[in-house]
Amino acid sequence: MSRCSRGTWALAVLFALGCAGPALGTQLPAGFVYLREVAPDILQDMRYAGPDNFTGRKVPGYDAPQCILRREVAEALKRVQAELREQSLSLKLYDCYRPARATRAFLKWIGDEAAPGSKRYFPRTDKATLHMQGYISPNSAHSRGIAVDLTLVRLPAADLPAFDRSARYGACNGPAGDRAPDNSLDMGTGFDCFDVMSQTESPAVGGEPRDRRRLLRTVMRKYGFESYWREWWHFSFATPTPGPARDFAIEAPRGAP
Ligand SMILES: [Zn+2]
Repeated sequence: MSRCSRGTWALAVLFALGCAGPALGTQLPAGFVYLREVAPDILQDMRYAGPDNFTGRKVPGYDAPQCILRREVAEALKRVQAELREQSLSLKLYDCYRPARATRAFLKWIGDEAAPGSKRYFPRTDKATLHMQGYISPNSAHSRGIAVDLTLVRLPAADLPAFDRSARYGACNGPAGDRAPDNSLDMGTGFDCFDVMSQTESPAVGGEPRDRRRLLRTVMRKYGFESYWREWWHFSFATPTPGPARDFAIEAPRGAP
């Protein structure tokens, strides 16, 4: 933890150290921001902070549903959002900065036969091979604050229906209406669908979902992001200084209601 991340310091001391920044971000390491500070109109649906994810439970380190990123990444997303809004579309983030402990928990979950998780996220893929198939990286750019998982939402955004833990939702590669609730546009599969249909150019996905994947890839690339052919939702910001992996927990911003 940097000396700038202790929120209990008096404000005058922070100024003296040159650490003063936006009020909500003062507990974050230098260079990191809450996306809401930079682009409050970008939607967030932080899946690892709750049970609607492939592990079926809240992920370690996600103590608040907040998107945190390196500042230059957040500012690039703001530019993407401005362009999409001209088409009455919005970004919606599913994952941003990921504490390293979360990645360790994912790898432990893969190796734990007693922790089945949510099969609808990998309906025809062997759980024990997910990392070998390129879906869960042990050295994720997410932990450097430069990777994002996101999708498109039509504006005005519909309310996000509540997730029901007891419901029997359909597989992530099945019809959108059968999947768990989401107010995003259909991209051919759900987020974190560990399946070949999630490949951005999957021949099994056509029509509007294919066009939307291509639109998302085009506009993200325009503002400095690199796409990942295996996952239509994953992008990493191209930077010569990716920085180290981090492990600070995601907490609500101080001063937030
Ligand atoms: Zn990702």
